[in-house]
Amino acid sequence: MNTKTIVVASGNAGKIREIAQIFSDYNVISMAELGFNEDIEENGTTFAENALIKAKTVSNRLGVCALSDDSGLCVNALNGAPGIYSARYSGKGESANRKLLLKNLQGVEDRSAHFCSAVCLYFPDGSYLTGEGKTYGKILFEERGTGGFGYDRLFLSNDLGVSFGEATEEQKNLVSHRYRALCDLRSKL
Ligand code: IMP
Repeated sequence: MNTKTIVVASGNAGKIREIAQIFSDYNVISMAELGFNEDIEENGTTFAENALIKAKTVSNRLGVCALSDDSGLCVNALNGAPGIYSARYSGKGESANRKLLLKNLQGVEDRSAHFCSAVCLYFPDGSYLTGEGKTYGKILFEERGTGGFGYDRLFLSNDLGVSFGEATEEQKNLVSHRYRALCDLRSKL
């Protein structure tokens, strides 16, 4: 494997696509392509801790340079929830997560929120680099658009003026939390 190959420590197709676009000058492959399909236990208490756990696990197991992202949606009126529990919010998948979020925000006026991403690039020699990024917006009262994944259809981006579900991948990637976290990391490479 050449030095410009990065293995993404995630099974999330949406994330892998975004990372491949942002690292388009690298050979980005998923851990599944190397036969790694296990669920990694994310028992950290912050996005950064979970990102390190994921990248380190995949790098150690496969002997490769592994890149992880741990991310989530933080809603001010919910004291930062769902936060690091974004993927597991309802316990029933992404569509149910969005419904639960709308339910928990019924009658709530302050819709301000941000996505947060912590990324970690872990090298086989045990060294690693990290990055962090945020993007701000508001939680809509109903879904808008059909693109993206996760909470995209409910997130009205301050930068774009449309929901992430309405934006093209290219538009989202210019302002996304993950893009900003990856730029932060790349500036340290
Ligand atoms: P992780 O895979 O444990 O980092 O969990 C990430 C979860 O946060 C996803 O399953 C989504 O629910 C949410 N999330 C993170 N980034 C995004 C995004 O760009 N759009 C929509 N939802 C996101």
